Amino acid sequence: MNRDTAVVLGGSVAGLCAAGVLARHFGKVVILERDLLPPDAEHRRGVPQSKHPHFLLNSGRRAIGEIFPGFEEALIAAGGMLLMPSMDAAYCEDAGWAPRTSGSMTMVYSSRILIERVLRAKVRQLSAVDLREGVTVTGLRSVGGGTAGGRVAGIEYRTAEGEDGRLSADLVVDALGRGSSTVGWLAAAGWDAPPEQTLDAKVTYTSRWYDLPAADERPASWWWRHLIIAPTQDAGSHPVEHEFLSNFFPIEGDRAIVCMGSWGIPMPGDADAFEAAADRVRAGAFGQAARACTPVSPVHLTRSTGNRWRRFDLLDPPPLGLVCVGDSICAFNPFYAQGMSSAARSALILGDLLREHEVCDAAFFRRFLARQRKSLAVPWMLAMARDQAYDFATGTEVAPRWRRRLTARLSWPVFDLVNAAGRQDPYVERAFAQVFNLDKSLRRLTVDPRFWFGLARHRLRQALGRPVVPSGFDQRRDPPATDYTHYPRYTRDARNTRNDAPNTQPAETAPGLIDPRG
Ligand SMILES: Cc1cc2nc3c(=O)[nH]c(=O)nc-3n(C[C@H](O)[C@H](O)[C@H](O)COP(=O)(O)OP(=O)(O)OC[C@H]3O[C@@H](n4cnc5c(N)ncnc54)[C@H](O)[C@@H]3O)c2cc1C
Repeated sequence: MNRDTAVVLGGSVAGLCAAGVLARHFGKVVILERDLLPPDAEHRRGVPQSKHPHFLLNSGRRAIGEIFPGFEEALIAAGGMLLMPSMDAAYCEDAGWAPRTSGSMTMVYSSRILIERVLRAKVRQLSAVDLREGVTVTGLRSVGGGTAGGRVAGIEYRTAEGEDGRLSADLVVDALGRGSSTVGWLAAAGWDAPPEQTLDAKVTYTSRWYDLPAADERPASWWWRHLIIAPTQDAGSHPVEHEFLSNFFPIEGDRAIVCMGSWGIPMPGDADAFEAAADRVRAGAFGQAARACTPVSPVHLTRSTGNRWRRFDLLDPPPLGLVCVGDSICAFNPFYAQGMSSAARSALILGDLLREHEVCDAAFFRRFLARQRKSLAVPWMLAMARDQAYDFATGTEVAPRWRRRLTARLSWPVFDLVNAAGRQDPYVERAFAQVFNLDKSLRRLTVDPRFWFGLARHRLRQALGRPVVPSGFDQRRDPPATDYTHYPRYTRDARNTRNDAPNTQPAETAPGLIDPRG
């Protein structure tokens, strides 16, 4: 196969990352995008999810940086904020506000539309790439569909003016997102449909954009940049909002996206209901923060959140000439923030294999599918580890009843335990951050003896009433500003108190706090 022309279907995050990689290996890379692309960071029809918060995990940020050197700097120059969530975010876990400590994870906070704008600018600098807007892909062209050696050889499209056209391609990359029609097009050409793994945990997001108050008008207790309120684990009666996962998510331009999400609970869809619900979230700071800000958007609601993995790697024979990246092959429950990173990681795999193979023959596609499967298995396992807890979840991956019970009972407490142990033990913190950021698989973590030692030591200290740092600060009050990194023995002084927030005492302060270094 030649490397003259590659065609990328879809010009969103997955398509732009793929194009960035292909530009190093093909004479010409054509991106076909249905929308007219805004010059600035603006929402558009083809990416409705941009109205909701988008976390870019470390592995994704690194992968995008490899594809587009200077990406992170450009995002920050455009208004993105490099923060350390364990220090800059106030996190309310089941027991109350968590103590602030420094950690290994940093994140560039921005809106999804800004990420895309920066990526688009990077792609537009690549002379090999032709980004065509207002072009709808309508089909695939292929030879020998469904036979060994059958190959996708091009695509069909329609322009905004209603003109139909065709493009031949040496490689076609499907980055059309969740709604991709590729499976149907392949079936029409004679290929089997790939088996699908699905699990829809009925997650709903509701989000609204706000302007923050001017810096000198913010309440003194706002040391935090980001608020996260995890769902309660209390089985007793409480307002339904206590079961929301809520986010006050900072973005560029002194704005925040206020977002509430839930598994299986109907969410407010209009402004009054949204504000009333925000006020009932179990940490009072959340509703207060929303009220102190000025709404600048309507309420956006989405239920398009199910996990779905199209197993092209199991197709025999697979269609040559085609690779699928991003949500078109594997879409995740967005609570785990894995979509953009997985898309960028697939693009990197594509680049590795294009370097290793002179021709894109059957061996190239088989190796790509195998490596992509391994890469996608990491986030997939994480998503299943929580979403399989719900009785109302539907799909091929619904777990047997006993496992649903076990997962429902254990997943949040284990998450809290690991976080608490991580605040006291840098090894545990780093190991879990690697898993959360897709740099290490959950499976590898579960066989790491040093990790288990860290958890056991933390539990022992808890049992003896001698935790290294206090925890469980009253969530009805402001989150505590104190920096508890390496909390000194028997001292409750705030080493780095940035304000005079009153909530500096944990709900249960242990009498004998011990020095983590000792
Ligand atoms: C509510 C929500 C929150 C999310 N939060 C996060 C998060 O925190 N972190 C994270 O990493 N991910 C998150 N995601 C996932 C993330 O949005 C996607 O994984 C990511 O956008 C990659 O998508 P993509 O490029 O594959 O597809 P998309 O972004 O869906 O883009 C598909 C593109 O194809 C174009 N297109 C569609 N059909 C055609 C056609 N026929 N012809 C031409 N063009 C076409 C569309 O216009 C669009 O540009 C979230 C998703 C949702 C729904």
